[in-house]
Amino acid sequence: MDFNSFGLSSRILDAVTAAGYTTPTPIQAAAIPAVMAGEDVMGCAQTGTGKTAAFVLPMLERLHQTHSADKRRKVRALIIGPTRELAVQIEESIKMFVRFTKLKSIAVYGGVGIEPQIRGIRNGIDIVIATPGRLLDLLDRRAINLEDVEILVLDEADRMFDMGFINDIRKIVSLTPKTRQTLLFSATMSGPIRSLAEGIQRKPKMIEVGERRNPVASVEQHIYPIDQEKKMELLLHIFENEEMESVIIFSRTKHGADRIAMRLERNGIQAVALHSDRTQSQRLRALDGFKRGRFKVMVATDIAARGLDVEGISHVINFDTPTSAEDYIHRIGRTGRAESTGDAFTFVARSEEQHLRKMEQHIGRRFQRKIYPGFSYKRDDSGERQYRDENAPRRFSSPVTNEARDPRFERDSRGSFGRSRSNTSPAPRNRRHTS
Ligand code: AMP
Repeated sequence: MDFNSFGLSSRILDAVTAAGYTTPTPIQAAAIPAVMAGEDVMGCAQTGTGKTAAFVLPMLERLHQTHSADKRRKVRALIIGPTRELAVQIEESIKMFVRFTKLKSIAVYGGVGIEPQIRGIRNGIDIVIATPGRLLDLLDRRAINLEDVEILVLDEADRMFDMGFINDIRKIVSLTPKTRQTLLFSATMSGPIRSLAEGIQRKPKMIEVGERRNPVASVEQHIYPIDQEKKMELLLHIFENEEMESVIIFSRTKHGADRIAMRLERNGIQAVALHSDRTQSQRLRALDGFKRGRFKVMVATDIAARGLDVEGISHVINFDTPTSAEDYIHRIGRTGRAESTGDAFTFVARSEEQHLRKMEQHIGRRFQRKIYPGFSYKRDDSGERQYRDENAPRRFSSPVTNEARDPRFERDSRGSFGRSRSNTSPAPRNRRHTS
């Protein structure tokens, strides 16, 4: 199957070709014909599956076919997403596909001046990509009118729900015509999302695509139990020992993200923090600097990193253990994209082991706990916690002793450090420290 089979106009097909897309992804293959036929669609898919083009291409086709140059422009398509970064990303994708048409789009989100956005809308816009808060603000100021919306897209509906936007969404939807076509995308289809969909969609076509890629297959996962107060030291040790091109570090808190970025900078590693306390221009600059490789490391909170599509991430480091399996899969899914593979390191303090167990239950397998080669796990206060690599044969299990006392570490005599990347801790790539 290729993009020619959908019956897209040549102006849109040319842009698809220019973007380098040749084969539709599964969600595109399923959604594009349905959306072009005017059906409502409920898509269960994560970022990375190609879901943006799955709704953008048929939406543009519909707008392009019925576009009349001399009519006053009205907002005919509205896309709502949870974060500013996602809105910008969707708009970039739209800009790429409308280049040979006369369609115009704008992304509107908070944290930046509202006036240029108001002017932009006033100048005539076909497609608006918005975050809920800013859109409501624009509606309050009567700067935007949704009465002519033909296509409404709710992207990452589950995230919007988690972030407490549900009432805002309902209000926004109520201001659009009932005759509209409604597309809803969500990584999970929980009860609240289903009931939201029931209220706003008509006989939606359900499209479910499996996980983007099996993260277990494409990402090498390493779980490192570690005392909370030793995490920073371990992080710096990993930076000394791994060859890392592009790294995302996840922190549970904004304050933690700032602290980690600062410590890395102090150690000569260019890092930038991305979280919601930063101004919008700081966030965009941070993201842009990371995408262009100006910063090798981005330290982010979950919300800030949601839906980000940054290519070529070699490592994900969970400085704090994610509190749910969804967040874990979402976080490690930042790496191992396309044909590349990636490494995901997760630090687990004792107080975080409950989260790890929850993740194991969800994923249905137990993670092997590892120790990082060459790292001194000793605590200054000679605390009791002991570490060993479950992969290391027992007689090679130093530098750790006393492991038998800790029931969390099962005996497992497969492999030892650095022998094989398939089931052991990663071999230090520059071999400065070997064990
Ligand atoms: P998305 O899930 O929409 O965020 O897309 C993830 C990435 O895949 C983006 O970088 C897209 O540009 C890219 N992509 C989407 N569909 C295709 C396709 N059919 N062929 C090649 N790349 C694609």
